Amino acid sequence: MKYIGAHVSISGGVENAPLNAKAIGAKAFALFTKNQRQWKSAPLSPKNIEIFKENCKKFDFSPDYILPHDSYLINLGHPETEGLEKSRLAFLDEMQRCEQLGLSLLNFHPGSHLNAISLETCLNRIADSINIALNKTSGVTAVIENTAGQGSNVGFAFEHLAHIIDKVEDKTRIGVCIDTCHAFAGGYDISTPEGYNKTFDRFDSIIGFHFLKGIHLNDSKKEVGSHVDRHESLGKGELGKEVFSTMMKDSRFDNIPIILETPDETLWPQEIEWLYSQTK
Ligand SMILES: [Zn+2]
Ligand SMILES: [Zn+2]
Repeated sequence: MKYIGAHVSISGGVENAPLNAKAIGAKAFALFTKNQRQWKSAPLSPKNIEIFKENCKKFDFSPDYILPHDSYLINLGHPETEGLEKSRLAFLDEMQRCEQLGLSLLNFHPGSHLNAISLETCLNRIADSINIALNKTSGVTAVIENTAGQGSNVGFAFEHLAHIIDKVEDKTRIGVCIDTCHAFAGGYDISTPEGYNKTFDRFDSIIGFHFLKGIHLNDSKKEVGSHVDRHESLGKGELGKEVFSTMMKDSRFDNIPIILETPDETLWPQEIEWLYSQTK
């Protein structure tokens, strides 16, 4: 079964996210548990937590299909001690917020070497950062998102993600999320049937589908291999609609949150409805 939704707003409090998801016909959703552009946010209040859990129950959203996303400021592979420490503290806070909300996944971008350290050093540092956070928390799986490889961002090649996973001690609490726009911009041409098969075969042999904990479903404004991260509404970009229809029929994407991060929110109800129509 497919669990499709979108990254919804938490305006007015995290407890509004399940309501916003319900309103667009979603069976899954993503959210930030704090302001994603600030280092510090007020802690979640017992009231926020209680109502969030109540609303999830009321609208039938299980934690298995809720994919929180961490702050864009965090760089778990930061080349400098100060930036790395700040990121690790903020990431731990994100994990703890998920724990408090009863959530079981936390999606994040691996990090950037900022042209100051090697790719390998950066990947090792990210794995260390994950190990530190996992040691201090319980019940939340760290879900690494593939990137478009913009600037000095690592994590666009499946090998990067596999390298990190290999160095994470608790393999039961590490996973990946594949963003279709990032994969395409990162060099994987999933827009053709051959490219699609080749890409996901490679994914399975390099990482393994058992590590797949979520999907971000986005079309791409920029061409394959551009390393530019610009999401587009489904069918309006370089990927085209066909790949999304194929994915909806592909059982390898069953029973995980499938999240739209497409730019035009007014289209989400239609996009979700169309995606469900393609599952049959
Ligand atoms: Zn992301
Ligand atoms: Zn994404």
